[in-house]
Parts: sequence; C-alpha cells; structure tokens
Amino acid sequence: MAKLNRYPADGRTAKVLVDLLDQAYLSNWVRLEASAEVSNAVSLITPSGERVIVYRPDFLDREVPEAFVALVIAHELGHHIEGDTAGLAVTQARPPKEAELRADAFAAKMLKVRGYREEQIVEALDLLVGKLPASTPTPEERRRLILKNYKRTRDLQTELGDSRAAYALLETKNSALATTKAEVEAELKKKSDDLDDHTSWAERAGKKDKKKTVLESVVMSVRLNDGDITDFTQPGKYTADVEITYHVLALEDTVEGDLEEVFHVSPESSTTVSWVPSTEKYSLHHKDPVRVAAFFRFSLKARERRTIQTSARYEYTLPLSPSRKTHGVEPSQADDAFFYINQYDYINELVLVIRSSKPLREPMKGDALLEREVDNFKIGSTPLLQSESGYSVATFRWRNLEPRQIAGLLIRR
Ligand SMILES: [Zn+2]
Repeated sequence: MAKLNRYPADGRTAKVLVDLLDQAYLSNWVRLEASAEVSNAVSLITPSGERVIVYRPDFLDREVPEAFVALVIAHELGHHIEGDTAGLAVTQARPPKEAELRADAFAAKMLKVRGYREEQIVEALDLLVGKLPASTPTPEERRRLILKNYKRTRDLQTELGDSRAAYALLETKNSALATTKAEVEAELKKKSDDLDDHTSWAERAGKKDKKKTVLESVVMSVRLNDGDITDFTQPGKYTADVEITYHVLALEDTVEGDLEEVFHVSPESSTTVSWVPSTEKYSLHHKDPVRVAAFFRFSLKARERRTIQTSARYEYTLPLSPSRKTHGVEPSQADDAFFYINQYDYINELVLVIRSSKPLREPMKGDALLEREVDNFKIGSTPLLQSESGYSVATFRWRNLEPRQIAGLLIRR
C-alpha cells in the first residue's frame, strides 16, 4: 500500500475535532490530517499506534456548514471510540455496515451533546446524501439512525440533566444502538463513585490509576529578563524566572515528601538553574547547575485542596550553543524552548506562558508541542502570541495531560 501523502489539517476542521475530543475527555487522542488521496474521510491507526483521521480537503471545504464538518469528523471519531478503526493498509476498504451504524450513532450523540441544533443536523444530512456513493447502510438508513440517536440524546438530557446524560452517553461504548434510559441509569449506578458532576477528568483518571494526588491545573510562567540583549549570538548574560503554580487535589491522605519538584536544563544549553524559595517549606535533595529537586514538607488529607507555587532562576550565558537539541526541537541561537515534563500526574489543564521583553516573532505551527514518552506520539500546535507594554507573551494551554507526557513551547526572537 502506498504511503499516504498527508499534510496538516485546515483550521476549522481541526478546531471541530479538538472540541469533540475535549467533550469526550480525550484531548490529543486523535490527530487530524488532510490528503487528496482519500475519497472522503477515513480513520486509521499507524504502525506506531498513532490514531489519525484523514480527510479530503475539498470534502470539508469552506462551502459546507460547520455541522457537516462536525458530523463527518464525529463519525470518524466514532470509529476510533468504538474500536472499529482500520489499520493503514485497509484505508480504502469500506467498514462493515455495523461499524458504520455504530459510528453514526456515536456522531449523533456527540453532536447533540456539543449543542448542534436539529435543523443543522438535517441540513448536514441532506448535504451528505448528495456527496456519498450509494452504500450499505443506505443514506436513508443512516439518516433515520442519526436522527433517532439525536432525539434520544435530547430526551436523556431532559430526563437526567445535561452533564450526567452526556457523561453516560460518552462513556457507554458499543451500546450506541441500544442506549435506553434504564441502561444509562445502570451505567450511572455502576460508576456512582465517579458521577459527581464536579468530578474532573484528572480526578477520575487519577482514581483509576490509584494516584494519591492529581493536579486540577498547572500554570508555568516564564519571565525572560532579556531586555538588554541586542544580539543573542554575542557574549553576554541574562536570566529567566520560572514560577509554577499548582492546584493540588488529594485523592488520599498524603505524607511529607509525597510531592516533589524538579527543575532542570539540558546539559549543552549554556544555562544553569537554581532553586528559589516560594510558598512551601521544602527539603532540597538534589542541587547542581543543571538540576535542582526538592520534596515538600506538607501533607494533605483526602479531598483537601492546596494551591502551591514553586520557583527557579535560569541563568543564560551567551552565545547560546547553536546545537541545543531538546525533546526533538532545535531552537536557533536566538530562540528558546521551555518544557513541562509530566512524569507522574494527571492534569486537567496546563498553561505555559512565556514573557519576553524582546519582541517575539510570529509563532509557527508546531511551536506548541505535546509528546507522549511511551510511544513517541507527537502533535504540534500554534501558540498564541500577544504584545502589550513592551512585552511579547507566548501562551498555550493543554487539557487532560497524562503521566509521561511532555508539553513544550518554542519562542522565536
Ligand atoms: Zn465510516
């Protein structure tokens, strides 16, 4: 089978997928690409285990309404969710009828949960019928099934309340064709532990993985004191102050030393790091120019929350090494990259903010990146860049981070 010639997805289509993934607590689970070599849209798992949806750009172009894009992408996501995803070699094969219906049912539920209106679904279906080859299931079967599931979802939302219904529907796999109120309630009962509407993704994931704590949010804020530097390729020095604010939630009682902070730099980076005290008592247990680490001297009771901040100062010796390869990125001598290395935690939201007192250049796609250590899965996004009062600020936020994921932000000066 020829290798598909794939390229990055268009912004609107990518946003639709991100919204759907967020809704299903599956951020970053599936990557999206475009290719003129597929007929409409296909789901596949690459040999390295990466989940991808590939679509044909002129099938989801600007002419079609957003609900049409959402219906197509949610259908493909349904193939992934339901475990009906083809391997790379069978991208041109048509999935069996049952798989198509499962994906359609999932898509219908998803679109209702995401708030698309019924008339938008009808409009999208009318358009879809005109664009699909005659197939099994027939377009008429698919329309009936999609509208039936859409309406059933609406009924469940009325009966159970929005978030409980949404949660139950999205967690109930392979029952897309048979979700009744009774089944949903049984499912809810079984998972009663997790069913508090305020239970976050990290809390559910952390409990499943028997973690003592999870992080409701993490904000890593970097201030580059680089205002005096005119040429980053000439000798000189500057510093950067890094502060990280954590919102910790204890799932079980913790003891002193359960929470640890580590700051480090890559050895060839012409940079050193030192610990700066912040909100907590600590015991430094590792201290050298490239790595500092401390245990925190506080404990938490189960269900207790605590907001803590940690801090470090980075000192740069210019010129920076031209070959600072770190986590797969190679910043040029004027540029820099910061990473949050998440070894251990489930995190609902991570925000990385880099303030420079130099103007930053427009970020490129890929400058905000997420890497999964276990299977080398990588995705790259475009950070937000804003300027005001002499500062340029690059920001990116990631949702639903798992252990052994690395998030990073590259800045261009
Ligand atoms: Zn399909």
